[in-house]
Amino acid sequence: MKRFRNDIILVLVILIFAITFYFIYRGINNSNELVCKIYQEQELKYEILLDHEEVITLNTNDGKMVIVIEKDGVYVKESDCHDKICLNQGKIKRGGEVITCLPDRVYIKLEGKGADVYL
Ligand SMILES: [Zn+2]
Repeated sequence: MKRFRNDIILVLVILIFAITFYFIYRGINNSNELVCKIYQEQELKYEILLDHEEVITLNTNDGKMVIVIEKDGVYVKESDCHDKICLNQGKIKRGGEVITCLPDRVYIKLEGKGADVYL
């Protein structure tokens, strides 16, 4: 019976460790601020920290593109490009994620401020 109890304690300890690590990991991820980089014609046009909300309007070959920057991600709200792939990509939220608009040659990238994910 004592052996059985020790097993339970062991399982509980492992469980507590796992949960603790999970929250520490999540905490690190959340505190890792993101930077949104917007490239147009391969030129870096904007570099915005995701600590506030901002709307960027780019003049493109086909008209304009409206990019919304929020604390939890970035997305293309409006675009006059013909394929609308950038619109359909939705919101990007993590470092390393990108939105590309081939017709307008716009490239939006999220980068972690601490640990960068290079593509
Ligand atoms: Zn597009």
